[in-house]
Amino acid sequence: MLSSALVRSVLDALPDAMVIIDSAGNILFANHQVEALFGYPSGEIVGGPVEVLLPERFRQRHVGHRKGYASTRRVRPMGAGLLLFATRKDGTEFPVEISLSPITQGSDILVAAAIRDVSERRQVEQALEEARRDAERANIAKSRFLATASHDLRQPLQALGLLNGALRRMVTDTDCRDVLEEQDQAVDAMSRLLNALLDISKLESGAIKLELKDFEVATLFDEMRREFGSMAANKGLAFSVDTPRDSVHSDPALVGQVLRNLLSNAIKYTPQGRVELRCTRHDDRIGIEIRDSGVGIAPDQLPLIFDEFYQVGVTPNSSRDGYGLGLSIVHRIARLLGITVAVSSEPGKGSVFSFDLPAAREIEATTGAPVAANARSQVPSGGAEILLVEDEPGVRNAMRMLLKLEGYRVTVASSYEDALGRLRESEDYDLVVTDYHLDGGRTGTQVIAAAREILGESFRAILVTGDTSSAVREMQGDASLRITSKPINSDELLALVRDLLAG
Ligand code: ADP
Repeated sequence: MLSSALVRSVLDALPDAMVIIDSAGNILFANHQVEALFGYPSGEIVGGPVEVLLPERFRQRHVGHRKGYASTRRVRPMGAGLLLFATRKDGTEFPVEISLSPITQGSDILVAAAIRDVSERRQVEQALEEARRDAERANIAKSRFLATASHDLRQPLQALGLLNGALRRMVTDTDCRDVLEEQDQAVDAMSRLLNALLDISKLESGAIKLELKDFEVATLFDEMRREFGSMAANKGLAFSVDTPRDSVHSDPALVGQVLRNLLSNAIKYTPQGRVELRCTRHDDRIGIEIRDSGVGIAPDQLPLIFDEFYQVGVTPNSSRDGYGLGLSIVHRIARLLGITVAVSSEPGKGSVFSFDLPAAREIEATTGAPVAANARSQVPSGGAEILLVEDEPGVRNAMRMLLKLEGYRVTVASSYEDALGRLRESEDYDLVVTDYHLDGGRTGTQVIAAAREILGESFRAILVTGDTSSAVREMQGDASLRITSKPINSDELLALVRDLLAG
């Protein structure tokens, strides 16, 4: 049997403050730590109610809790999940953690309460919480800054690109042309970075909404074959694209963006050999694979390549083609689509990026009826009359100049209403080029609809947009329409105009 003096000295040696109370709630025993923590002289609180250790406002309620505990008799933390407070003799409060243990003594039930001062831990937790909130605020501010900066940069950059295109057509001196060529490349690099930043800020801000539907993989693959065929051929790479019969249920525009980013990387990082776009079916999933025989990625780099601004073997501030944003965009889109992009790679041999899409819900794939292209009349490339609708004066002037230098006749309109007026004045137009977002909440699709009402269903149109909304997507099956994204490249715009007028 232990002596009571030994028990007392053991209890005094505990790191926590401990009180033992009887069934009436009076303190029978308090160790040294209680006195030190609560600021009472030795023995002062013994015999009094335990509520003296609680802030005034909790005392009455505590009496009820105490009686409730006496009937459950379990070892348990007190007030689980709640922030508990104790009060010192001088009235100051501090946060505590309390653990209760019942002790049976004859017919009486005593309760031992171990009390730990958690002020420091709370301070650390609060500091952490504040730091987390600061980081979140900074992240939101960063996204907002990114979105605003990239958006505001878009118009002047677009004008710059178009003016460069116009100048290149005006200048005959070869030295000047070389300088302009370099300038064009710089503008192009800036546009690509701006597009990537805009994509990221749109994905981050939740501005991109999923538009799920059934669609044929082959349609998307055909687009990729057209878009990347010449890029691969220019590098001397074999580019093979499957022609699958499968349909999937997903968001075609976003899956398209994932494929574009993965294919442009595959071509970029493959000095020789081949790049393949494959489709395989397993049960209700359709597997998509982008394979290349390129430089490959070392195993220790694989977990990092989806990070923002990460490029293998490139030190910060050194330059290389690309910005290390392509795969982070892929990663964000994949998250939005609920898919996982897997990668396997062997340095020197090549890489495979792959993901699965759910098979289409409707078994029968819809076969879009091809729009009769021959319904439109042929237009001589020179002298065609173009109606240009753009609300931003800088971009409007630059586009007009570019088109005029190519020999087209150009009429400009600064708004939907203005465009409508022009269309009513003359029926000589062969093509309308219109911005998507126009002043007064009007859109380019409305301009096109109005033009077609006056000039016929197959009236040619080019829609310039950074918008991927459903209205824009729905128009993609239209053979008399081309959609091009901002910031627009002058050569690309002229190629579209030529292509449409030749059709
Ligand atoms: P970027 O291509 O602009 O550098 P990404 O985010 O698209 O940025 O890719 C990150 C890095 O992953 C690249 O810098 C490259 O080192 C590596 N990478 C991506 N795709 C491939 C690939 N198909 N083959 C080899 N390396 C790749």
